[in-house]
Amino acid sequence: MGSEILSATSSPRHVDVTLALAMRRGFLGRCPSCGRTPLFQSYLKQVQFCPACGADFGSIRADDAAPWLTLIVVGHLFLPLIFFVNLGAFLPFWLGVTSWAAFYCGVALVFLLRAQGLFIGVLWITHAPGSESG
Ligand SMILES: [Zn+2]
Repeated sequence: MGSEILSATSSPRHVDVTLALAMRRGFLGRCPSCGRTPLFQSYLKQVQFCPACGADFGSIRADDAAPWLTLIVVGHLFLPLIFFVNLGAFLPFWLGVTSWAAFYCGVALVFLLRAQGLFIGVLWITHAPGSESG
């Protein structure tokens, strides 16, 4: 197992992992390299190394990409729900506004984690800038 980790960390890229696969695994919160272990050790904090394959994620910084994508997706796909579901018809105004705010906070927090994983997958597979190691 030690030699597997050594070869995984010393190779510049896993050739059997495509960009789409790395993105999908990251979006699902799994290691973009092998998909066997969780990518995050806590909310938005990725693991330093994958314990299964040894892929290095410690130096990857997704920065503002995940919040940007979250704003785009939540704002454009979920926000129009407000116009179609009139909570004011059967709830007091203050309760309707509070309910929508709580709903959007929850959706944004859930999607932010997915977007963070997606961009970590992209940065890992492409070795794009965003990594502190250069
Ligand atoms: Zn892995």
